[in-house]
Amino acid sequence: MTKFIFVVGGVMSGIGKGVTVASTARILKDYGFKVTAVKIDPYLNVDAGTMNPVEHGEVFVTDDGLETDQDIGNYERFADEDIPKENYMTTGLVYQSVINRERNLDYGGKCVQIIPHVTDEVESRLMRAAKKSKADFVLVEIGGTVGEYENLLFLETGRIMKLKMPGHVLFMLVSYFPIPKMIGEMKTKPTQHAVRSLNSAGIQPDIIIARSEMPLDQARKAKVSIFCNMRPQDIISAPDISSIYEVPVNFEKDNLGKRILEKLNLKSWEKDSRLWGNFVKKIKSSREPVKIGIIGKYFDSGKFTLADSYISVIEAVKHASWSLNRQPEITWLNAESYEKDLTKLEELKNFDGIIVPGGFGKRGVEGKIAAIKYARENNLPFLGLCYGLQLAVVEFARHVCGLKEAHTTEVRPATPYPVICTMTDQIGKIKKKEMGGTMRLGAYDCQLAKESLCAKLYGAKTISERHRHRYEVNNDYVSALVEKGLLVAGKNTKQDLVEIIEIPSHKFFVASQFHPELKSRPLNPHPLFKGFIKAAIV
Ligand code: GLN
Repeated sequence: MTKFIFVVGGVMSGIGKGVTVASTARILKDYGFKVTAVKIDPYLNVDAGTMNPVEHGEVFVTDDGLETDQDIGNYERFADEDIPKENYMTTGLVYQSVINRERNLDYGGKCVQIIPHVTDEVESRLMRAAKKSKADFVLVEIGGTVGEYENLLFLETGRIMKLKMPGHVLFMLVSYFPIPKMIGEMKTKPTQHAVRSLNSAGIQPDIIIARSEMPLDQARKAKVSIFCNMRPQDIISAPDISSIYEVPVNFEKDNLGKRILEKLNLKSWEKDSRLWGNFVKKIKSSREPVKIGIIGKYFDSGKFTLADSYISVIEAVKHASWSLNRQPEITWLNAESYEKDLTKLEELKNFDGIIVPGGFGKRGVEGKIAAIKYARENNLPFLGLCYGLQLAVVEFARHVCGLKEAHTTEVRPATPYPVICTMTDQIGKIKKKEMGGTMRLGAYDCQLAKESLCAKLYGAKTISERHRHRYEVNNDYVSALVEKGLLVAGKNTKQDLVEIIEIPSHKFFVASQFHPELKSRPLNPHPLFKGFIKAAIV
Protein backbone atom coordinates (compact mmCIF):
# COMPACT_ATOMS: atom_id res chain seq x y z
CA MET A 1 0.00 0.00 0.00
CA THR A 2 1.27 3.48 -0.91
CA LYS A 3 2.64 5.57 1.95
CA PHE A 4 1.91 9.28 2.11
CA ILE A 5 4.17 11.83 3.79
CA PHE A 6 2.61 15.25 4.23
CA VAL A 7 5.12 18.05 4.55
CA VAL A 8 3.98 21.28 6.16
CA GLY A 9 5.80 24.47 7.11
CA GLY A 10 6.07 26.11 10.51
CA VAL A 11 7.04 29.61 11.69
CA MET A 12 7.72 31.17 8.29
CA SER A 13 7.85 30.48 4.59
CA GLY A 14 10.89 30.29 2.36
CA ILE A 15 12.90 27.98 4.59
CA GLY A 16 13.14 25.10 2.17
CA LYS A 17 10.01 22.99 2.29
CA GLY A 18 10.35 22.21 -1.42
CA VAL A 19 13.96 21.15 -1.05
CA THR A 20 13.00 19.09 2.01
CA VAL A 21 10.40 17.21 -0.01
CA ALA A 22 12.80 16.77 -2.94
CA SER A 23 15.61 15.57 -0.66
CA THR A 24 13.39 13.15 1.22
CA ALA A 25 12.25 11.76 -2.14
CA ARG A 26 15.91 11.31 -3.12
CA ILE A 27 16.70 9.49 0.12
CA LEU A 28 13.75 7.12 -0.24
CA LYS A 29 14.63 6.48 -3.87
CA ASP A 30 18.16 5.56 -2.79
CA TYR A 31 16.55 3.04 -0.44
CA GLY A 32 15.07 1.43 -3.54
CA PHE A 33 11.51 2.79 -3.39
CA LYS A 34 9.47 4.19 -6.21
CA VAL A 35 8.77 7.76 -5.15
CA THR A 36 6.83 10.71 -6.41
CA ALA A 37 5.94 14.12 -5.00
CA VAL A 38 2.88 16.35 -5.09
CA LYS A 39 2.68 20.11 -4.63
CA ILE A 40 -0.43 21.77 -3.28
CA ASP A 41 -0.63 25.54 -3.70
CA PRO A 42 -3.33 27.07 -1.55
CA TYR A 43 -4.38 29.91 -3.83
CA LEU A 44 -7.30 30.42 -6.20
CA ASN A 45 -5.38 30.48 -9.49
CA VAL A 46 -6.23 27.28 -11.33
CA ASP A 47 -2.57 26.77 -12.29
CA ALA A 48 0.68 28.74 -12.01
CA GLY A 49 0.69 29.82 -15.66
CA THR A 50 -0.94 33.20 -15.19
CA MET A 51 1.28 34.33 -12.35
CA ASN A 52 4.01 36.91 -12.65
CA PRO A 53 7.43 35.30 -12.16
CA VAL A 54 8.54 38.24 -10.03
CA GLU A 55 5.84 37.40 -7.53
CA HIS A 56 5.71 33.67 -7.78
CA GLY A 57 9.02 32.54 -9.26
CA GLU A 58 9.48 30.36 -12.30
CA VAL A 59 6.59 28.57 -13.94
CA PHE A 60 7.73 24.97 -14.33
CA VAL A 61 6.16 23.04 -17.21
CA THR A 62 5.75 19.28 -17.01
CA ASP A 63 6.15 16.86 -19.91
CA ASP A 64 2.37 16.55 -20.13
CA GLY A 65 2.00 20.30 -20.41
CA LEU A 66 0.82 21.64 -17.04
CA GLU A 67 2.13 25.01 -15.85
CA THR A 68 3.17 24.36 -12.27
CA ASP A 69 5.18 25.72 -9.41
CA GLN A 70 8.97 25.77 -9.32
CA ASP A 71 8.99 23.18 -6.52
CA ILE A 72 7.96 20.55 -9.07
CA GLY A 73 11.29 21.31 -10.76
CA ASN A 74 13.13 20.56 -7.55
CA TYR A 75 11.28 17.26 -7.17
CA GLU A 76 12.24 16.27 -10.72
CA ARG A 77 15.85 17.25 -10.25
CA PHE A 78 16.40 15.49 -6.92
CA ALA A 79 14.29 12.40 -7.49
CA ASP A 80 15.32 12.16 -11.16
CA GLU A 81 11.72 11.32 -12.04
CA ASP A 82 9.29 13.03 -14.42
CA ILE A 83 6.43 14.48 -12.42
CA PRO A 84 3.03 14.20 -14.17
CA LYS A 85 0.24 16.78 -14.07
CA GLU A 86 -1.71 14.74 -11.52
CA ASN A 87 0.92 15.85 -9.00
CA TYR A 88 -0.01 19.51 -8.87
CA MET A 89 -3.11 21.14 -7.49
CA THR A 90 -4.29 24.51 -6.30
CA THR A 91 -7.32 25.47 -4.24
CA GLY A 92 -8.72 26.96 -7.46
CA LEU A 93 -8.34 23.70 -9.39
CA VAL A 94 -9.88 21.61 -6.60
CA TYR A 95 -12.88 23.93 -6.19
CA GLN A 96 -13.31 24.15 -9.96
CA SER A 97 -13.73 20.38 -10.22
CA VAL A 98 -16.08 20.17 -7.24
CA ILE A 99 -18.24 22.97 -8.63
CA ASN A 100 -18.26 21.40 -12.10
CA ARG A 101 -19.37 18.10 -10.59
CA GLU A 102 -22.10 19.82 -8.61
CA ARG A 103 -23.35 21.51 -11.82
CA ASN A 104 -23.45 18.06 -13.47
CA LEU A 105 -25.56 16.65 -10.63
CA ASP A 106 -22.75 14.29 -9.70
CA TYR A 107 -23.48 14.74 -5.99
CA GLY A 108 -27.03 13.42 -6.43
CA GLY A 109 -28.80 16.41 -4.88
CA LYS A 110 -26.70 16.42 -1.69
CA CYS A 111 -25.63 19.62 0.04
CA VAL A 112 -22.05 19.96 -1.23
CA GLN A 113 -19.70 20.89 1.59
CA ILE A 114 -16.05 21.58 2.19
CA ILE A 115 -15.91 18.54 4.44
CA PRO A 116 -16.29 15.88 3.13
CA HIS A 117 -16.73 16.82 -0.56
CA VAL A 118 -13.77 19.11 -1.08
CA THR A 119 -11.46 17.05 1.16
CA ASP A 120 -12.62 13.93 -0.73
CA GLU A 121 -11.68 15.63 -4.00
CA VAL A 122 -8.17 16.38 -2.66
CA GLU A 123 -7.83 12.82 -1.37
CA SER A 124 -8.91 11.30 -4.68
CA ARG A 125 -6.41 13.50 -6.52
CA LEU A 126 -3.65 12.25 -4.21
CA MET A 127 -4.75 8.67 -4.82
CA ARG A 128 -4.69 9.26 -8.57
CA ALA A 129 -1.17 10.67 -8.32
CA ALA A 130 -0.05 7.58 -6.37
CA LYS A 131 -1.59 5.28 -8.96
CA LYS A 132 -0.26 7.14 -11.97
CA SER A 133 3.33 6.93 -10.72
CA LYS A 134 2.87 3.45 -9.19
CA ALA A 135 4.52 4.99 -6.16
CA ASP A 136 5.54 3.31 -2.92
CA PHE A 137 5.83 6.79 -1.44
CA VAL A 138 3.97 9.99 -2.25
CA LEU A 139 5.41 13.10 -0.65
CA VAL A 140 2.82 15.85 -0.40
CA GLU A 141 3.96 19.42 0.09
CA ILE A 142 1.27 21.69 1.44
CA GLY A 143 2.11 25.28 0.53
CA GLY A 144 2.10 28.07 3.11
CA THR A 145 2.64 27.71 6.85
CA VAL A 146 0.53 26.11 9.58
CA GLY A 147 -1.90 28.54 11.14
CA GLU A 148 -2.86 30.09 7.83
CA TYR A 149 -6.53 29.98 6.97
CA GLU A 150 -5.77 29.08 3.34
CA ASN A 151 -4.21 25.66 3.81
CA LEU A 152 -6.50 24.32 6.55
CA LEU A 153 -8.50 22.36 4.00
CA PHE A 154 -5.43 20.43 2.94
CA LEU A 155 -4.27 19.78 6.51
CA GLU A 156 -7.74 18.45 7.15
CA THR A 157 -7.43 16.09 4.16
CA GLY A 158 -4.14 14.80 5.56
CA ARG A 159 -5.65 14.30 8.99
CA ILE A 160 -8.55 12.33 7.53
CA MET A 161 -6.23 10.20 5.40
CA LYS A 162 -4.12 9.33 8.45
CA LEU A 163 -7.28 8.29 10.25
CA LYS A 164 -8.41 6.13 7.32
CA MET A 165 -5.00 4.57 6.65
CA PRO A 166 -3.30 4.09 10.01
CA GLY A 167 0.38 3.24 9.65
CA HIS A 168 0.58 4.57 6.11
CA VAL A 169 0.58 8.34 6.60
CA LEU A 170 3.20 10.56 8.24
CA PHE A 171 3.44 14.27 8.92
CA MET A 172 6.68 16.16 8.67
CA LEU A 173 6.94 19.73 9.94
CA VAL A 174 9.66 21.92 8.43
CA SER A 175 10.18 24.57 11.05
CA TYR A 176 12.55 27.44 11.69
CA PHE A 177 14.78 27.84 14.74
CA PRO A 178 16.07 31.42 14.85
CA ILE A 179 19.31 32.50 16.54
CA PRO A 180 18.63 36.19 17.29
CA LYS A 181 21.87 38.18 17.21
CA MET A 182 21.24 40.05 20.46
CA ILE A 183 20.66 36.76 22.31
CA GLY A 184 23.16 34.58 20.48
CA GLU A 185 21.16 31.48 21.35
CA MET A 186 18.96 29.19 19.29
CA LYS A 187 15.29 29.59 20.21
CA THR A 188 12.78 26.75 20.07
CA LYS A 189 9.67 28.70 21.10
CA PRO A 190 8.44 29.60 17.57
CA THR A 191 8.50 25.90 16.69
CA GLN A 192 6.65 25.00 19.87
CA HIS A 193 3.92 27.39 18.73
CA ALA A 194 3.91 25.91 15.23
CA VAL A 195 3.41 22.42 16.69
CA ARG A 196 0.56 23.71 18.92
CA SER A 197 -1.02 25.21 15.85
CA LEU A 198 -0.72 21.92 13.98
CA ASN A 199 -2.12 20.11 17.03
CA SER A 200 -5.16 22.35 16.94
CA ALA A 201 -5.80 21.04 13.42
CA GLY A 202 -5.79 17.55 14.95
CA ILE A 203 -2.30 16.67 13.71
CA GLN A 204 0.79 15.63 15.65
CA PRO A 205 3.98 15.83 13.58
CA ASP A 206 5.91 12.57 13.30
CA ILE A 207 9.15 14.27 12.31
CA ILE A 208 10.44 17.83 12.60
CA ILE A 209 12.96 19.15 10.11
CA ALA A 210 14.78 21.80 12.11
CA ARG A 211 15.94 24.57 9.79
CA SER A 212 18.50 26.86 11.32
CA GLU A 213 21.93 28.38 10.84
CA MET A 214 23.41 25.50 12.80
CA PRO A 215 22.62 21.90 13.69
CA LEU A 216 20.49 21.48 16.82
CA ASP A 217 22.40 20.46 19.95
CA GLN A 218 21.17 17.71 22.27
CA ALA A 219 19.81 20.25 24.74
CA ARG A 220 17.57 21.83 22.08
CA LYS A 221 16.43 18.43 20.84
CA ALA A 222 15.55 17.42 24.40
CA LYS A 223 13.56 20.61 24.87
CA VAL A 224 11.62 20.27 21.62
CA SER A 225 11.04 16.62 22.50
CA ILE A 226 9.36 17.48 25.81
CA PHE A 227 7.41 20.51 24.66
CA CYS A 228 6.33 19.13 21.31
CA ASN A 229 5.57 15.62 22.47
CA MET A 230 8.12 13.90 20.22
CA ARG A 231 11.13 11.65 20.53
CA PRO A 232 14.49 13.48 20.19
CA GLN A 233 15.60 11.22 17.33
CA ASP A 234 12.62 12.44 15.30
CA ILE A 235 13.99 15.96 15.27
CA ILE A 236 16.28 16.21 12.27
CA SER A 237 18.87 18.98 12.03
CA ALA A 238 18.82 20.97 8.82
CA PRO A 239 21.53 23.63 9.09
CA ASP A 240 22.27 26.18 6.35
CA ILE A 241 24.61 24.81 3.69
CA SER A 242 26.19 26.14 0.55
CA SER A 243 24.48 23.83 -1.95
CA ILE A 244 20.91 22.55 -1.76
CA TYR A 245 22.14 19.27 -3.25
CA GLU A 246 23.90 18.48 0.05
CA VAL A 247 20.58 18.44 1.89
CA PRO A 248 19.90 14.70 1.42
CA VAL A 249 23.39 13.92 2.73
CA ASN A 250 22.82 16.18 5.73
CA PHE A 251 19.40 14.72 6.55
CA GLU A 252 20.96 11.29 6.59
CA LYS A 253 23.46 12.40 9.25
CA ASP A 254 20.41 12.42 11.53
CA ASN A 255 19.05 9.22 9.92
CA LEU A 256 15.95 10.70 8.33
CA GLY A 257 15.49 7.74 5.97
CA LYS A 258 15.68 5.15 8.74
CA ARG A 259 13.32 7.12 10.96
CA ILE A 260 10.72 7.21 8.19
CA LEU A 261 11.08 3.50 7.42
CA GLU A 262 10.90 2.53 11.08
CA LYS A 263 7.78 4.59 11.64
CA LEU A 264 6.12 2.90 8.69
CA ASN A 265 7.34 -0.56 9.69
CA LEU A 266 9.56 -0.96 6.62
CA LYS A 267 12.68 -2.38 8.15
CA SER A 268 14.86 -4.39 5.82
CA TRP A 269 15.83 -1.97 3.08
CA GLU A 270 19.35 -1.46 1.75
CA LYS A 271 20.46 1.98 0.72
CA ASP A 272 22.67 2.81 -2.24
CA SER A 273 23.47 6.51 -2.39
CA ARG A 274 26.68 6.28 -4.42
CA LEU A 275 25.34 8.22 -7.41
CA TRP A 276 24.17 11.13 -5.32
CA GLY A 277 27.24 10.99 -3.07
CA ASN A 278 29.60 11.19 -6.04
CA PHE A 279 27.64 14.08 -7.49
CA VAL A 280 27.92 16.04 -4.22
CA LYS A 281 31.67 15.32 -4.11
CA LYS A 282 32.00 16.70 -7.62
CA ILE A 283 30.30 19.96 -6.60
CA LYS A 284 32.90 20.40 -3.89
CA SER A 285 35.91 19.44 -5.97
CA SER A 286 35.05 21.73 -8.92
CA ARG A 287 37.19 24.81 -8.34
CA GLU A 288 38.05 26.64 -11.55
CA PRO A 289 35.32 29.13 -12.43
CA VAL A 290 33.27 29.50 -15.57
CA LYS A 291 31.70 32.95 -15.84
CA ILE A 292 28.19 33.04 -17.25
CA GLY A 293 26.03 36.13 -17.73
CA ILE A 294 22.24 35.75 -17.74
CA ILE A 295 20.45 38.62 -19.39
CA GLY A 296 17.12 39.02 -17.68
CA LYS A 297 14.47 41.51 -16.77
CA TYR A 298 12.59 40.13 -13.79
CA PHE A 299 14.62 42.31 -11.45
CA ASP A 300 11.98 44.29 -9.64
CA SER A 301 12.55 42.93 -6.16
CA GLY A 302 16.28 42.48 -6.39
CA LYS A 303 18.56 39.56 -7.03
CA PHE A 304 16.65 37.03 -5.01
CA THR A 305 13.52 37.28 -7.07
CA LEU A 306 15.56 37.04 -10.21
CA ALA A 307 17.12 33.81 -9.05
CA ASP A 308 13.64 32.40 -8.41
CA SER A 309 12.35 33.51 -11.81
CA TYR A 310 15.06 31.58 -13.63
CA ILE A 311 15.71 28.76 -11.20
CA SER A 312 15.79 25.93 -13.77
CA VAL A 313 18.21 27.89 -15.98
CA ILE A 314 20.52 28.44 -13.02
CA GLU A 315 20.39 24.80 -11.97
CA ALA A 316 21.00 23.63 -15.56
CA VAL A 317 24.12 25.85 -15.74
CA LYS A 318 25.31 24.38 -12.45
CA HIS A 319 24.72 20.75 -13.49
CA ALA A 320 26.60 21.22 -16.77
CA SER A 321 29.46 23.16 -15.16
CA TRP A 322 30.03 20.65 -12.37
CA SER A 323 29.98 17.77 -14.82
CA LEU A 324 32.91 19.54 -16.52
CA ASN A 325 34.67 20.22 -13.21
CA ARG A 326 33.93 23.93 -13.22
CA GLN A 327 32.39 26.14 -10.58
CA PRO A 328 29.80 28.37 -12.25
CA GLU A 329 29.86 32.09 -11.47
CA ILE A 330 26.52 33.45 -12.58
CA THR A 331 26.01 37.20 -12.98
CA TRP A 332 22.64 38.87 -13.58
CA LEU A 333 22.75 41.35 -16.39
CA ASN A 334 19.89 43.79 -16.71
CA ALA A 335 18.73 43.92 -20.33
CA GLU A 336 17.26 47.38 -19.86
CA SER A 337 20.63 48.85 -18.92
CA TYR A 338 21.91 48.18 -22.48
CA GLU A 339 19.00 50.15 -23.90
CA LYS A 340 20.01 53.23 -21.95
CA ASP A 341 23.71 52.96 -22.72
CA LEU A 342 25.10 50.76 -25.49
CA THR A 343 28.68 51.12 -24.20
CA LYS A 344 27.57 48.99 -21.23
CA LEU A 345 27.65 46.04 -23.62
CA GLU A 346 31.42 46.06 -23.22
CA GLU A 347 30.95 44.34 -19.87
CA LEU A 348 30.05 41.20 -21.82
CA LYS A 349 33.71 40.64 -22.59
CA ASN A 350 34.20 39.63 -18.96
CA PHE A 351 32.07 36.52 -19.50
CA ASP A 352 32.84 33.11 -20.93
CA GLY A 353 29.31 32.84 -22.29
CA ILE A 354 25.88 34.48 -22.10
CA ILE A 355 22.33 33.19 -21.90
CA VAL A 356 19.17 34.99 -22.99
CA PRO A 357 16.39 33.05 -21.24
CA GLY A 358 12.63 32.94 -21.78
CA GLY A 359 10.42 35.97 -21.32
CA PHE A 360 7.34 37.88 -22.36
CA GLY A 361 6.44 41.37 -23.51
CA LYS A 362 8.46 44.33 -24.68
CA ARG A 363 10.39 45.50 -21.65
CA GLY A 364 14.11 44.86 -22.08
CA VAL A 365 13.73 43.40 -25.57
CA GLU A 366 16.00 45.87 -27.38
CA GLY A 367 18.68 45.34 -24.70
CA LYS A 368 18.52 41.59 -25.21
CA ILE A 369 18.78 42.02 -28.97
CA ALA A 370 21.84 44.26 -28.50
CA ALA A 371 23.48 41.64 -26.28
CA ILE A 372 22.78 38.88 -28.81
CA LYS A 373 24.34 41.06 -31.54
CA TYR A 374 27.42 41.50 -29.36
CA ALA A 375 27.69 37.73 -28.80
CA ARG A 376 27.25 36.98 -32.50
CA GLU A 377 29.81 39.54 -33.64
CA ASN A 378 32.37 38.74 -30.96
CA ASN A 379 32.24 34.96 -31.15
CA LEU A 380 31.03 34.84 -27.52
CA PRO A 381 29.24 31.55 -26.69
CA PHE A 382 25.51 32.21 -26.67
CA LEU A 383 22.58 30.10 -25.61
CA GLY A 384 19.07 31.38 -26.31
CA LEU A 385 16.03 29.86 -24.64
CA CYS A 386 12.57 30.37 -26.16
CA TYR A 387 12.32 34.18 -26.23
CA GLY A 388 16.10 33.96 -26.58
CA LEU A 389 15.65 32.11 -29.90
CA GLN A 390 12.97 34.49 -31.10
CA LEU A 391 15.10 37.57 -30.38
CA ALA A 392 18.17 35.93 -31.94
CA VAL A 393 16.14 35.49 -35.14
CA VAL A 394 15.02 39.15 -34.96
CA GLU A 395 18.65 40.23 -34.48
CA PHE A 396 19.87 38.10 -37.40
CA ALA A 397 17.11 39.34 -39.68
CA ARG A 398 17.82 42.97 -38.82
CA HIS A 399 21.60 43.00 -38.93
CA VAL A 400 22.59 40.15 -41.23
CA CYS A 401 19.64 39.94 -43.65
CA GLY A 402 19.21 43.72 -43.72
CA LEU A 403 15.52 43.65 -42.70
CA LYS A 404 15.99 46.66 -40.45
CA GLU A 405 12.54 46.79 -38.92
CA ALA A 406 12.19 43.06 -38.38
CA HIS A 407 10.46 42.19 -35.12
CA THR A 408 8.25 39.78 -33.28
CA THR A 409 4.53 40.52 -33.50
CA GLU A 410 4.40 40.08 -29.73
CA VAL A 411 6.16 43.44 -29.41
CA ARG A 412 5.30 45.16 -32.68
CA PRO A 413 2.17 43.71 -34.29
CA ALA A 414 2.51 46.00 -37.34
CA THR A 415 6.15 45.28 -38.17
CA PRO A 416 6.82 45.10 -41.93
CA TYR A 417 8.97 42.00 -41.34
CA PRO A 418 7.22 39.74 -38.82
CA VAL A 419 10.06 37.19 -38.58
CA ILE A 420 8.47 35.93 -35.37
CA CYS A 421 4.71 35.73 -35.59
CA THR A 422 1.73 34.56 -33.61
CA MET A 423 1.11 30.82 -33.97
CA THR A 424 -2.03 30.32 -36.05
CA ASP A 425 -3.97 28.52 -33.33
CA GLN A 426 -3.08 31.28 -30.84
CA ILE A 427 -4.64 34.17 -32.76
CA GLY A 428 -8.21 33.41 -31.67
CA LYS A 429 -7.16 32.65 -28.09
CA ILE A 430 -5.37 35.99 -27.71
CA LYS A 431 -8.37 37.85 -29.19
CA LYS A 432 -10.79 36.14 -26.83
CA LYS A 433 -8.37 36.62 -23.92
CA GLU A 434 -8.27 32.89 -23.26
CA MET A 435 -4.89 33.09 -21.61
CA GLY A 436 -4.92 30.37 -18.93
CA GLY A 437 -3.15 27.15 -19.94
CA THR A 438 -3.51 27.87 -23.65
CA MET A 439 0.08 28.31 -24.86
CA ARG A 440 1.88 25.57 -26.78
CA LEU A 441 2.76 23.61 -23.69
CA GLY A 442 4.71 20.51 -22.78
CA ALA A 443 6.71 17.94 -24.68
CA TYR A 444 6.90 17.81 -28.47
CA ASP A 445 9.29 15.91 -30.71
CA CYS A 446 11.98 17.69 -32.68
CA GLN A 447 14.00 16.27 -35.57
CA LEU A 448 17.64 17.32 -35.63
CA ALA A 449 19.53 18.23 -38.81
CA LYS A 450 22.25 15.67 -39.45
CA GLU A 451 25.00 18.25 -39.95
CA SER A 452 24.07 20.28 -36.84
CA LEU A 453 26.09 20.70 -33.68
CA CYS A 454 22.93 19.79 -31.75
CA ALA A 455 22.75 16.36 -33.40
CA LYS A 456 26.27 15.77 -32.11
CA LEU A 457 25.54 17.11 -28.64
CA TYR A 458 22.37 15.05 -28.21
CA GLY A 459 23.77 12.02 -30.02
CA ALA A 460 20.25 11.49 -31.45
CA LYS A 461 18.10 12.17 -34.49
CA THR A 462 14.87 12.90 -32.67
CA ILE A 463 14.53 14.49 -29.27
CA SER A 464 11.63 15.48 -27.04
CA GLU A 465 11.63 18.80 -25.18
CA ARG A 466 9.19 20.98 -23.24
CA HIS A 467 7.57 24.15 -24.55
CA ARG A 468 5.73 27.24 -23.36
CA HIS A 469 5.08 29.84 -26.04
CA ARG A 470 2.54 31.55 -28.31
CA TYR A 471 4.85 32.86 -31.03
CA GLU A 472 7.00 31.03 -33.57
CA VAL A 473 9.55 31.57 -36.33
CA ASN A 474 7.70 32.75 -39.44
CA ASN A 475 8.43 30.15 -42.14
CA ASP A 476 8.13 32.84 -44.84
CA TYR A 477 11.51 34.16 -43.73
CA VAL A 478 13.37 30.91 -43.18
CA SER A 479 15.02 30.76 -46.61
CA ALA A 480 16.29 34.36 -46.26
CA LEU A 481 17.79 33.55 -42.86
CA VAL A 482 19.33 30.29 -44.09
CA GLU A 483 20.82 31.99 -47.12
CA LYS A 484 22.75 34.30 -44.82
CA GLY A 485 24.23 31.50 -42.73
CA LEU A 486 21.66 30.52 -40.12
CA LEU A 487 21.12 26.79 -39.73
CA VAL A 488 17.75 25.36 -38.79
CA ALA A 489 19.20 22.67 -36.58
CA GLY A 490 15.93 21.29 -35.26
CA LYS A 491 12.36 21.18 -36.54
CA ASN A 492 9.04 19.84 -35.48
CA THR A 493 8.24 18.31 -38.83
CA LYS A 494 4.60 17.54 -37.99
CA GLN A 495 3.79 21.15 -37.18
CA ASP A 496 6.41 22.59 -39.53
CA LEU A 497 7.97 24.63 -36.72
CA VAL A 498 11.55 25.78 -36.25
CA GLU A 499 12.73 24.41 -32.91
CA ILE A 500 16.50 25.10 -32.90
CA ILE A 501 18.78 27.53 -34.72
CA GLU A 502 22.57 27.55 -34.91
CA ILE A 503 25.23 29.67 -36.57
CA PRO A 504 27.75 27.03 -37.69
CA SER A 505 30.58 29.54 -38.24
CA HIS A 506 30.32 30.74 -34.62
CA LYS A 507 32.11 29.21 -31.63
CA PHE A 508 28.74 28.37 -30.04
CA PHE A 509 25.56 30.12 -31.10
CA VAL A 510 22.59 27.91 -30.34
CA ALA A 511 19.03 28.83 -29.47
CA SER A 512 15.97 26.69 -28.90
CA GLN A 513 12.24 27.39 -29.07
CA PHE A 514 11.80 24.90 -26.22
CA HIS A 515 13.08 25.11 -22.65
CA PRO A 516 15.94 22.62 -22.29
CA GLU A 517 16.56 23.85 -18.72
CA LEU A 518 13.38 22.07 -17.61
CA LYS A 519 14.93 18.70 -18.34
CA SER A 520 18.40 19.15 -16.89
CA ARG A 521 19.05 16.86 -13.93
CA PRO A 522 21.98 16.83 -11.50
CA LEU A 523 22.77 13.24 -12.44
CA ASN A 524 22.07 13.90 -16.11
CA PRO A 525 23.07 17.41 -17.22
CA HIS A 526 21.41 18.69 -20.38
CA PRO A 527 23.41 18.24 -23.63
CA LEU A 528 22.78 21.82 -24.84
CA PHE A 529 23.95 23.30 -21.55
CA LYS A 530 26.93 20.95 -21.55
CA GLY A 531 27.85 22.00 -25.08
CA PHE A 532 27.49 25.65 -24.11
CA ILE A 533 29.68 25.37 -21.01
CA LYS A 534 32.25 23.31 -22.93
CA ALA A 535 32.50 26.07 -25.54
CA ALA A 536 32.68 28.66 -22.77
CA ILE A 537 35.70 27.05 -21.11
CA VAL A 538 37.92 26.43 -24.14
N1 GLN B 1 6.98 35.39 -25.34
C1 GLN B 1 7.37 34.35 -26.21
C2 GLN B 1 6.20 33.51 -26.70
O1 GLN B 1 5.16 33.53 -26.10
C3 GLN B 1 8.42 33.47 -25.57
C4 GLN B 1 7.91 32.69 -24.42
C5 GLN B 1 8.98 32.14 -23.52
O2 GLN B 1 10.12 32.59 -23.56
N2 GLN B 1 8.63 31.14 -22.70
O3 GLN B 1 6.29 32.82 -27.67
